[in-house]
Amino acid sequence: MFNPILLEAHNPSPMTGRGNNTYLIAGRDGTAMLIDAGVGDTRHLAEIDRQLAAHGVRLARVLVTHGHADHASGAPALAAAHPDATFAKYPWPEEDARYDVEWQSLADGQILASGDESLAALHTPGHSPDHVAFWHEPSRTAFTGDLVVAGSSVMIHWSRGGNLAEYLASLERLLALQPRWLLPAHGPRVDDPAALLSGYLEHRRMRERQVIAALQAGHATVQAIAESIYDGLDPALMAAACENVRAHLEKLRAEGRASADAGRWTRAG
Ligand SMILES: [Zn+2]
Repeated sequence: MFNPILLEAHNPSPMTGRGNNTYLIAGRDGTAMLIDAGVGDTRHLAEIDRQLAAHGVRLARVLVTHGHADHASGAPALAAAHPDATFAKYPWPEEDARYDVEWQSLADGQILASGDESLAALHTPGHSPDHVAFWHEPSRTAFTGDLVVAGSSVMIHWSRGGNLAEYLASLERLLALQPRWLLPAHGPRVDDPAALLSGYLEHRRMRERQVIAALQAGHATVQAIAESIYDGLDPALMAAACENVRAHLEKLRAEGRASADAGRWTRAG
């Protein structure tokens, strides 16, 4: 029975919620794989050690869903504690260089194994260009990084390589796998993936209609559109909301449905 061990990264914040989830998969060959590196918090490192000892395994591989700091910045601390472990992610060269470890490059469809447990890497860009999910076929479990957060939505950071059209395609790809469970990097396990993913796709269509309505109402800047849509938002999250709005506007521009001139956006097409 597939039993990934949830280990919290101990990094709560407005952007990470209660903090990141990382998952340890112990194989029967004495090795283990860790999904996401956390931030190097000493409690996280100690809990990893405790679980490795309890299962009689050593950390062989750290798989990182994407290069955002809450998922990747713990890699050097893990490398120091586990000198034999390898680190792998889908390449994003300018971001990967921020973390002082030797990254192995993951490719879409690549299979990664610890003993009889194996995962397939699925390139699922959009939240970031390098995002991958990890798919455990026998249990139909997907480790989904930042593709979804139950009870919340995912920020698409346009200025840091986010792409809404790619993100929607990644959600569709995940939905088509007919997963039984999703294990996200933030928030609880998702027990009804089809409902959640369909809801996410519908939520983005609704946001797109709101952005179009805001343009039609004469809101012309990203900030004005964001304020008209995210009324009453925690100010700490407004910068991220603007990134989301920009991602929607860029999708509309790519589709010929909006245009921009000197930072002022208008409806087109
Ligand atoms: Zn992220």
